[in-house]
Amino acid sequence: MTTMRPSLDRAAELRTESGIVDRLRGEESSRVIAVRDGRVRIAGADLQEAALLRVPPAEIAEATWALLGRDAEGHAVLLASLAPEADSVDAAPAETWLGLRDFGANLSAGDSELLIEALALAGWLRDAPFCPRCGGGTELRQAGWSRRCLVCGREHFPRMDPAVIVAVESPDGERLLLGANANWGGRMYSCFAGFTEAGESLESTVHRELEEESGVRLSSLRYMSSQPWPFPRSLMLGFRAVAVDEDEVRPDGEEIIDVRWFTRDEIGSALRGDGPVGLPGPASIARALIVSWFEERPGSVGSDPR
Ligand SMILES: [Zn+2]
Repeated sequence: MTTMRPSLDRAAELRTESGIVDRLRGEESSRVIAVRDGRVRIAGADLQEAALLRVPPAEIAEATWALLGRDAEGHAVLLASLAPEADSVDAAPAETWLGLRDFGANLSAGDSELLIEALALAGWLRDAPFCPRCGGGTELRQAGWSRRCLVCGREHFPRMDPAVIVAVESPDGERLLLGANANWGGRMYSCFAGFTEAGESLESTVHRELEEESGVRLSSLRYMSSQPWPFPRSLMLGFRAVAVDEDEVRPDGEEIIDVRWFTRDEIGSALRGDGPVGLPGPASIARALIVSWFEERPGSVGSDPR
């Protein structure tokens, strides 16, 4: 599986500099990603070649500001989190404001990373204005990356909720276990996933979720890669595992309506878009886990999973 290297410099060392966001807002070279209600604007009419729209700070009137980092040219990139009803940058038609799901895999890796950072931080700026301990008002610090309670003094930071996602293979490695979620309309199959509960390890989450959703017990658990998914603030941690006994399979009948073993040929067809079974989209960690399993064995060489 490919490992994503960060292409964005988050410039965390600047966050402690007093008044840094105001100073960067005053610099002509600074660029701003505006987020409103989980959406951003794109540059260009063609979604296939979409890029995040970066505007000069002077174009934004009213917003909550934060520092996202610096781009490849060394320019500061700021976040302007707009109120849902804001019209300060709304000269363009409404349909040019898009959410993460609208982009799919069309953005460059760098823009995609920047988009997810911007949506995650904007979500926290919007949703967590009060101290979760005492309910007091807070002041923003560290260039938008922390809040300090004005009443009890406690400091708070943007959070992510860990969730596991697991690709399970048969003991001989020749088949992959996928489930159909009740919300997906019956044709779509994917890896098993669930949130880590309070005080639970990732390993325990994987075993619990797979028993609950598929009845299968696991061995040979190994971590693969992760994907932040700001809906509203998940961090998906991708694992591979081997089923102890492939005959144990049964769906939970509520969240998961069907659980099936797929051969490598069946997965290959589904990845090419042939046949009756749909798989998760190309931007998802679920698909990356499936592709990684599919490509691991001889015999699959030469097929194009995308
Ligand atoms: Zn407080």
